[in-house]
Amino acid sequence: MKQMVTNMLAERGVRLTDVAALVYALQQPYQPRLTLADCLASVASVLEKREVQYALLTGITIDTLAEQGLLAEPLQSVIAQDEPLYGIDEVLALSITNVYGTIGLTNFGYLDKTKMGVLATINDNPHAVHTFLDDLVAGLAAAASARLAHNGWRATD
Ligand code: MG
Repeated sequence: MKQMVTNMLAERGVRLTDVAALVYALQQPYQPRLTLADCLASVASVLEKREVQYALLTGITIDTLAEQGLLAEPLQSVIAQDEPLYGIDEVLALSITNVYGTIGLTNFGYLDKTKMGVLATINDNPHAVHTFLDDLVAGLAAAASARLAHNGWRATD
């Protein structure tokens, strides 16, 4: 399952190293000796969690179906157009972020506001439906960052 969601992310243009770069940007100011490899290991650890895998599976599947025009109306239009009042994309992503507590929530809010790194790439693609993907990736990075904050970057979980 972990490999499957990793592949799904890759097919949607998101490599785990992209997520690790977001984690690094979030956490490096607080842990100056942190490396990109530490961040990648933390992302991989968060991806071990079944609830995280299910959140990614659900959101990416809905994005893909919307992209192919396969959802029923009115949901098809709402998701294809990333309707601002929809909000379920963020709620789903919070199920990832919440795994590591309130630091994750703060990180998620920051990423959602700044849209840095791969999040900008995801949001700027006019040919794809990434309604869920941007929030899921932000949630994943926020959780991996919170995990480092809680455990210290040499911890194994
Ligand atoms: Mg969204």
